[in-house]
Amino acid sequence: MKAPIQGYLEQLHEQVGQIDEGELASYIPELTKADPKAFGICLVTMDGVAYAVGDTQQTFTIQSISKAFVYAAALADRGQELVASKVGVEPSGDAFNSISLDPQSGAPFNPMINAGAIATSGLVAGSTPQAQWQRIQEALADFAGHPLALDEAVYRSESDTGHRNRAIAWMLKNFGIIDGDPMAVLDNYFRQCSLLVSCRDLAFMAATLANGGVHPQTGKAALPADEVERVLSVMATCGMYDYAGSWLYEVGMPAKSGVGGGIVAVVPGRFGVGIFSPRLDAKGNSVRGIEACKRLSRQFGLHAFARRDHPSMALERIFSAAQVPSRRQPPLEVRSFLDERAGSIKYLILHGFIAVDGVEYVIRKMQKLAPTTHSFILDMHQVDGLSESAARLLNQARLGLAAEGIALVCSRVHKRQAILAHLGKAARSGDRGFLLFEDNDLAVEWCENRLLAEMGDLAPGPRGMGDSLMFRGLPAELLQRIEQVSQRRSYTSGEQILRIGQEGDGRVFFIESGHVSILVPLQNGNHQRIASLCPGMEFGEMALLGQTTRSASVFADTDVSCRILEVTDLERLAEEAPKLEIILLKNLARGIAARLRGANQCIQALA
Ligand code: GLU
Repeated sequence: MKAPIQGYLEQLHEQVGQIDEGELASYIPELTKADPKAFGICLVTMDGVAYAVGDTQQTFTIQSISKAFVYAAALADRGQELVASKVGVEPSGDAFNSISLDPQSGAPFNPMINAGAIATSGLVAGSTPQAQWQRIQEALADFAGHPLALDEAVYRSESDTGHRNRAIAWMLKNFGIIDGDPMAVLDNYFRQCSLLVSCRDLAFMAATLANGGVHPQTGKAALPADEVERVLSVMATCGMYDYAGSWLYEVGMPAKSGVGGGIVAVVPGRFGVGIFSPRLDAKGNSVRGIEACKRLSRQFGLHAFARRDHPSMALERIFSAAQVPSRRQPPLEVRSFLDERAGSIKYLILHGFIAVDGVEYVIRKMQKLAPTTHSFILDMHQVDGLSESAARLLNQARLGLAAEGIALVCSRVHKRQAILAHLGKAARSGDRGFLLFEDNDLAVEWCENRLLAEMGDLAPGPRGMGDSLMFRGLPAELLQRIEQVSQRRSYTSGEQILRIGQEGDGRVFFIESGHVSILVPLQNGNHQRIASLCPGMEFGEMALLGQTTRSASVFADTDVSCRILEVTDLERLAEEAPKLEIILLKNLARGIAARLRGANQCIQALA
């Protein structure tokens, strides 16, 4: 199947390709040699997939687009404060090649006009112009994902004719914005403008900015995440020559264009866009490039100020342990105590990227539920991300709830480092932070234990075989005979008692003391606990129904003592006393029916 987005881009290319307006840039003579018909569109996703249509491999000179990426390198190398002292961030309203500086600070208005860009080229790391050129090349290579070649002819052409830029460089020298030889700095600027890119390269460069500075294919950090916002801000306000205001108004993406006919446009956290079509409008922007971006923005809702997901999307749903209790099967009196209070353990299933607005909504819901809640479990299984500020608010909510005696814990964060880091950072010193559980069952069991702590001394002590529901209604004399043929065996904490797939093991186990967990393996290599059992309960009873292969593994959670009954012994007893078989089967069927009911209830709650 062709990806729908590919089909859409093909259509866009076909429609916008009909536009034949605009002229090739001619003030750099060599640029007039470009093919006016060339047109490519490329869109790159945050996981590095490129959708490309048209002339997306053809190379052209990057020109002014380089300014955004060299500015990024200067910020990374010299820090925001120093860079800001040399180059401002105000849109100028003047032409890109104007010979003007801020009358107050003496600095160029912004790094996207030539004066600011030439100053920026002189700011990147390197103690000689050669070392700085090296740094510029490396920086752009990190954004593109590979080294970029230089178009010697365009470089010579601009170097031979760029007298206006020469004047700008000397002016910068005069005002102390450039320290060293202004002609050497300018030479690097001419070179950076003559680096060759394809529109596919541009799309990856944009995607790297969209992806917090990390190239989505190579995984290399081209820019520290903190600087990305600064670069994008300047692109948003100054990136499109004298069209910057209208561009933000109509397209709403941080972008930069160049007289070579390229445009990079960034949809933060979502896409990088690269477009190439060398016919320019009077302001120096690619005519088709602008039109394609306008349509993309409108049809895909990519404008920076477009309405985002409603905050309520953060909360998928709420249910309680009354619908999905823990898989532990405690003795009846404990179970009924928990059943009465199960509604006070609430699961909140969170969803998507959780930012401040989403978390505010979730917290408001919890406040409303608080009077009837003992513990909240935030199920993070479907959460793609959590902003740092959202984590901070969540943590405040946790502390506030704790003061009212209500627990707030998280489950299924799994190994998502960014979420873990934000949750961890949010906790203040001396506070242990969020309790995290591998799965909801462990979380709900922890919450049940909090309830049980209030119950006092109902915790189950050692039991005998007679406590097993399997032997309910069995005459004492028969029970005694069963006990006589059974054997006692002890297991140490952590020991495996039964292994899934194990064959021909016809034994039934009765727990006298200690706890065991019944586990099944998952595809991802983890285990899912399907039950936890306490004294007075049995496992392995399917052997009585002729099941010879074990369908789950059983581990001792504590030191465990069991009574073990061989099925063959039981069968022998049943031959002498047929009543035994009837009672056993009835009780077994009751147990299975209860479990089925529980499973149905669970499916209903989760559906
Ligand atoms: N190298 C060109 C100049 O400085 C870049 C112009 C541009 O792309 O805006 O004139």
